[in-house]
Amino acid sequence: MTFDLTPEQDQLRDAVRALGRRYGHGYFVEKAKAGEHTSELWTEAGRLGYLGVNIPTEYGGGGGGITELAIVCEELAAAGCPLLLLVVSPAIAATVITRHGTEEQHKRHLPGLADGSAKIVFAITEPEAGSNFHRLGTVARRDGDDWVLNGRKCYISGVDEAGHVLVVARTEDSSTGKLKPALFLVPTDAAGLTRSKLDMEIVSPENQFLLYLDDVRVPADALLGESLDAGLPALFAGLNPERITVAAMGAGTGRYAIERASEYTATRKVWGGRSIGSHQGVSHPLAHAAVQVELARLMIQKAATLYDAGRDLEAGVAGNMAKYAAGEAAALAVDTAVQALGGAGMTTEYGVATLLGAVRAGRIAPVSREMILNFVAQHVLGQEKSY
Ligand SMILES: Cc1cc2nc3c(=O)[nH]c(=O)nc-3n(C[C@H](O)[C@H](O)[C@H](O)COP(=O)(O)OP(=O)(O)OC[C@H]3O[C@@H](n4cnc5c(N)ncnc54)[C@H](O)[C@@H]3O)c2cc1C
Repeated sequence: MTFDLTPEQDQLRDAVRALGRRYGHGYFVEKAKAGEHTSELWTEAGRLGYLGVNIPTEYGGGGGGITELAIVCEELAAAGCPLLLLVVSPAIAATVITRHGTEEQHKRHLPGLADGSAKIVFAITEPEAGSNFHRLGTVARRDGDDWVLNGRKCYISGVDEAGHVLVVARTEDSSTGKLKPALFLVPTDAAGLTRSKLDMEIVSPENQFLLYLDDVRVPADALLGESLDAGLPALFAGLNPERITVAAMGAGTGRYAIERASEYTATRKVWGGRSIGSHQGVSHPLAHAAVQVELARLMIQKAATLYDAGRDLEAGVAGNMAKYAAGEAAALAVDTAVQALGGAGMTTEYGVATLLGAVRAGRIAPVSREMILNFVAQHVLGQEKSY
């Protein structure tokens, strides 16, 4: 067992950290409040190869794994720039396309994802289905060589920034008549695809949308993979990378908040010569949050290592646990940091309250803490399913 990163991973971490710090949380918040995107940071990260670390080298990527992508997510978040689209585009879309796309889809989509010039977002959630993906109502039906998609999706991140959206729909299996999932690469400017922006209480330069698919016609090669049979495995392929990278983003955000608070409490003096951090009522909650974040980081490392070793089932358990732990730790860390800063904690200037919405959402999305507990109860503890 080793807890050390390789020298290359160490270098990657240092380089991403330096890049993130050059932009910083002030930049992130300024963009969010202006209704703009963090395009400069994204473009630079892409040019430096950080967005494609997990994409095979033959398509312009770094040839690494989810361990490397988790490092990128964590370090940018630790610098105050938690970019959700890292989870959606390089983690979910690039993994799904690499593992289950056709050679033509590899060539068309992976180079752009690797250098950051293209973004592909992911649409599974639906208003009526919610956490119950078995109830998905978006349907794709064959019409000649084309597919025609109809349905509604909600909370879809980054549609305004992306060239394509990877839509999870259902198709009719001609042999059984049953509906089964399939993934489609739909251009965001396709006729019949419309969107409306959701007002979210999250300070973020990335937006969520309601998507309406009304007779959206796409050619046969928009279907991800060689055949309809690719659908289910492709859907599952995205889950572990999603959980591991979103956990890494949470851990990075937790580190950021604790660092801001520790700097403040070590120097702020309101009772004579002693810092407020000398009072254990202030320092212990911060220390407790630091322990929770560090425990989550260990689980993330385990999950990423298992995933990169091809041990998908074990990575599934570890990835879910990592996501749960990091989601809770990030929420605790940011809330504790706000408290430790007192009134300053609620100002934009000190840059911690600006993360409250994001870490709260991290306990709901992309998979809620309750659905992870259901998973652990059933698959680890052998409990009966209640739903
Ligand atoms: C900021 C943000 C970004 C998002 N980005 C995307 C995106 O890019 N693409 C995408 O497809 N989706 C996205 N989502 C959607 C997200 O994945 C869903 O919100 C999440 O899966 C929960 O679904 P729901 O909101 O419908 O909640 P519901 O399913 O309605 O659940 C509501 C509550 O009930 C609990 N619950 C439900 N069923 C059970 C059960 N069986 N046992 C115990 N508790 C249960 C849930 O845990 C939750 O607390 C995003 C959401 C947010 C907030």
